[in-house]
Amino acid sequence: MRERQHVIFAISEAAPYAKTGGLADVAGALPRALAKLDVEVKVILPRYRGERAGAVGRCVDERVDVPFAFGTKVAAIYADEYKGVPFYFVDAPEYFERPGIYGPNPNEEYPDNVERYAFFSRAVIEWARRLDPPPHLIHCNDWQTGFIPLYLRTAYREEPRLQRTKTLFTIHNIGYQGLFSPTLLERFGLSPEVYRTEGGIEFYGQASAMKAGIVFATAISTVSRKYAEEIQTPEYGYGLDGLLRARAMRLVGILNGVDYEEWNPATDPFIVAPYSLEDMSGKRLCKADLLRTMGLPEDLERPVIGSISRLVAQKGFDLVREAADGLLRAGVVYVLLGSGARELEEFFRDWQRAHPDRIGVYLGFHNELAHKIEAGADMFLMPSRYEPCGLNQIYSLKYGTVPIVRATGGLDDTIEPFDPTTRSGNGFKFVEYRADHLLAALERALEIYADPPLWRACMENGMRADFSWDRSAAQYRELYERVIRCEGPFGEPT
Ligand code: ADP
Repeated sequence: MRERQHVIFAISEAAPYAKTGGLADVAGALPRALAKLDVEVKVILPRYRGERAGAVGRCVDERVDVPFAFGTKVAAIYADEYKGVPFYFVDAPEYFERPGIYGPNPNEEYPDNVERYAFFSRAVIEWARRLDPPPHLIHCNDWQTGFIPLYLRTAYREEPRLQRTKTLFTIHNIGYQGLFSPTLLERFGLSPEVYRTEGGIEFYGQASAMKAGIVFATAISTVSRKYAEEIQTPEYGYGLDGLLRARAMRLVGILNGVDYEEWNPATDPFIVAPYSLEDMSGKRLCKADLLRTMGLPEDLERPVIGSISRLVAQKGFDLVREAADGLLRAGVVYVLLGSGARELEEFFRDWQRAHPDRIGVYLGFHNELAHKIEAGADMFLMPSRYEPCGLNQIYSLKYGTVPIVRATGGLDDTIEPFDPTTRSGNGFKFVEYRADHLLAALERALEIYADPPLWRACMENGMRADFSWDRSAAQYRELYERVIRCEGPFGEPT
């Protein structure tokens, strides 16, 4: 019989405690699916105490000493349970008692973010070495936890209690790398050697926390098969493609799942009328409710397109801006929920003011409205420049809201073009990052929309698909097993 896997899942945000994007959804759902497969998983994240991340949990360890910043800093560990999964929180008010998670607002980062997460990483290790039994594996996520593999292989190399502990580093988004001045390394208790030496963490004159994760982890994964290929190319690799090609033997792509307990039109408490494949009547009521909520005329015949997104360059909303007139000419209503780049926020605000009967905009973060859009829209637009996995298109499928996406990363892996002759496929996609190609995909969607039986077939294909975490969690469990057993390079388990 296999030994039970003891895994720490270290991450910078986790639903329902702290969320800025899909990363938090992963942390809220994957550990639960792993627990169902008998993996002993403990999630750990910072104990933020801002607006959207109330202080939670009970204190289970008042004093974890963390050697840091030329002295010793003290962290406390808090614990809570969510749907049967234990969540732990590193409490350090100096670093985490702030208004927002990564910055005071979505457009601004805290200047000491790298230090905050280096501290978090080291605190996780200090906590982990006191656990009994010590973890077999620490599953690290994105640059904020890239320091964990680095610390383990350097400052904690001789730590007797962590000799068996392996690391998996998952890249959720290679566009954010945690770059910093190498002069900070000593402050974090790391030798400048890790910067200087060949195979170190130097990145064009700066040090990179993302690179630390990639270089020092036992294995690397990312969140879709397509993205695993893409990040090995100069176009998508953000300067790390060469390194990833060299480490391709250790790199795997596992598609994110979604949490159908949160995102299911049959049980969603935020929508006015539940609906399902068997009885779709509620969807029209949801459409009417969405139009009302957004202050738009209740014209149920006009197709409604929704988007929910961080408004950052990655997500492709400059393309929507470019296609704006075309969208209006196509006769659709467009509803956007998002926040981020100021110039995009301004554009959408102005566009809404100019066409209040066709454009609905909510600038900000609003979970309930996100559910209403998934249920009430007819189509969902994600024109991403790149998209490691993407969750909203997968939620949309379940809500019978047909995705129109750019064929990149997880969008390409999850959306199949609808073919009216075979009635197969679940959405519409375009390949080149061009506004006219976006509009052409929309035109194809509108042609099918005009033929209700065909449209219904496309919706049903999406609603029937199963992207629950169970399958992906099983793949992670297998990967964990291989990583835990691996003595030499990953891919050559002994
Ligand atoms: P990313 O992680 O890059 O932001 P994903 O599509 O993987 O993109 O996940 C986005 C998640 O964040 C989804 O759960 C989506 O509903 C949510 N989200 C993004 N922006 C908002 C917003 N303004 N209000 C509510 N939820 C949002």
